[in-house]
Amino acid sequence: MAQAKKDSFAAELLINKEWCKGCGVCIAFCPKEALFLDENSKAKKDPEKCSACGICETFCPDFAISLVKRRLSVNAGK
Ligand code: SF4
Ligand code: SF4
Repeated sequence: MAQAKKDSFAAELLINKEWCKGCGVCIAFCPKEALFLDENSKAKKDPEKCSACGICETFCPDFAISLVKRRLSVNAGK
């Protein structure tokens, strides 16, 4: 008998440093205070604080942030 599969997702936030102009919009909107500007004035994420809500991706005017969801297939049951 085939085992049922349950899908779950892992989310990862990617910041394109080439496209980021350091405007700070993402920092202003992040509800977890998980973003800051690094020494090169590029947005950087604190992975301990980020909840992968995607708000920064929505508001970045330069499309420099991508929330990537990866499907993890997990065998349910035994
Ligand atoms: S909103 Fe976009 S361009 Fe502005 S600092 Fe954040 S990642 Fe960079
Ligand atoms: S995904 Fe949400 S919590 Fe994470 S850095 Fe962006 S706005 Fe903040």
